[in-house]
Amino acid sequence: MAIKYLESLDVKGKKVIIRVDFNVPIKNGVITDDTRIRAAIPTIKYVIDNGGKAILLSHLGRVKEEADKTKNTLAPIAVKLSEIIGKPVRFIPATRGSEVESAASSLAEGGIIMLENTRFEDFENGTAVKKESKCDKELGKYWASLGDLFVNDAFGTAHREAASNVGIALVLPSAAGFLLKKEIEFVGGVVENPVKPLVAILGGAKVSDKIGVIESLIDRADKIIIGGGMMFTFLKAMGKNIGKSLLEEDKLDLAKSLMQKAKDKNVELILPVDTIAAKEFKNDTAFRTVSVDDIADDELGLDIGEASIKLFTDKLKGAKTVVWNGPMGVFEMENFAKGTIGVCKAIAALEGATTIIGGGDSAAAAEQLGFADKFSHISTGGGASLEYLEGKVLPGIAILDK
Ligand code: ADP
Ligand code: MG
Repeated sequence: MAIKYLESLDVKGKKVIIRVDFNVPIKNGVITDDTRIRAAIPTIKYVIDNGGKAILLSHLGRVKEEADKTKNTLAPIAVKLSEIIGKPVRFIPATRGSEVESAASSLAEGGIIMLENTRFEDFENGTAVKKESKCDKELGKYWASLGDLFVNDAFGTAHREAASNVGIALVLPSAAGFLLKKEIEFVGGVVENPVKPLVAILGGAKVSDKIGVIESLIDRADKIIIGGGMMFTFLKAMGKNIGKSLLEEDKLDLAKSLMQKAKDKNVELILPVDTIAAKEFKNDTAFRTVSVDDIADDELGLDIGEASIKLFTDKLKGAKTVVWNGPMGVFEMENFAKGTIGVCKAIAALEGATTIIGGGDSAAAAEQLGFADKFSHISTGGGASLEYLEGKVLPGIAILDK
C-alpha cells in the first residue's frame, strides 16, 4: 500500500477537514474519559501549527431517534478540546447550512472549528436516513466543499464506509493523520509484513468472535497461543472433559479444522495445560488449579494456571513480533486475572520485539493491570482492530491509498 500521510500535505493557508474519533464516554454531560481527545491532538496541532485551518468532524454514539440529538451533541467535547489544546475551538451546532459554510470560509490560519456530530445526518424528519453511516455521496461532497484537504485520523470507524471518511476522501486530496498512521504501521505491519518470528496470543470469550482473526493469523504466525474462554472449545475438540466451562458446541468442528490447518501449515498451536477452576462464575468463591485433563463435571475454568503461564512465557521467547488479542481469563475478577497479568509480564520482558494489542477488552485489561506502557502499540479500534487483524480491507484506510 502507498498510503498518503499528513506530513506529505502542504497545509499552509488551507482549510483542512480532519475526521477525528471523539466518540468518548459521556455521563450526564460530563466526559468520563478524554483519552481519545488527547490522542487526536498531534494531528490537529500539526495542522494549525503549520498555518492550516482546522475543520473537525466526528461522530458520537448512534443517532437513531430525535432524543439522541440532545444526548449525543459534541458541544461538551469542543469545550474539552479547547481546554486541552489551549486554543479557542468554535463549535458550530450544525452539520450543514449557512452557519457551517460561513464559519468554514472565514476561518483564520491556525483557527479551529468543530461541527456537530456527523451522525446527526443519520436521522431526519422522524426517519432513519443514515446519510452518514451509509456513505451518502452527496453528503460527502457537501462536507468536502467546505475544505481544501482531508485528513482521516479516526481509526475506530475505518472499517465502516461513511460519508465523513470515504465520502470526503473521494473528493479531496486526502491523507492519514498520525493516529491512523500508527495503526497502519503496527497493526497493518502484522498483517502485511511482520518481522518473524511472529507469535500470536489469542483469548477472550468466544471462538466465534475470533474465527477470522485465527484464520488470518494461521497464515502469518509461527506460533499461536490460545487461552481465555475459547480455549475450552479447543480442549473439548481434543476429547477432554471441560466441565461447565465456556463451550461453543457448534464450533467444535471448526476448532478441529483450525488445529489441522495449523499442523498443515507448520504453525505451532499451543493450548494451556492447566486452568483455574471454580464452581461458580464469581470472584468470591472457592477455586483451584487443575490440569486440563482433570476438570470436574461441576467446575468451570476461569483463567489459565501457573504451568500454562510458564509454558506461554517460554513459547514467547525469541519472538520479534507479538500480537495479543483477548484476555487469558476473566480478568475483571481479581482471582482470575493472574493469567492475563502473567502474559502481560512475559510480553513486557521481551527484548527487541514489536508488541501489539488489538481488541477493546484486551486494551482495557492492559490499562487496568498497569501494563499499557509496556507495549509498542495498543490499537484503539475495537471492531476496526479485529477486522484489520483479520486481513480485511478497511475502507477508511484503503481510500487513502492512491
Ligand atoms: P477483546 O475485546 O479484546 O477482543 P473479547 O471481547 O473477545 O476480547 O473477550 C473479553 C472477555 O473474555 C472478557 O470479558 C473476559 O472476562 C472473557 N473471558 C476470558 N476468559 C474467560 C473464561 N475462561 N470464561 C469466560 N469468559 C472469559
Ligand atoms: Mg470485547
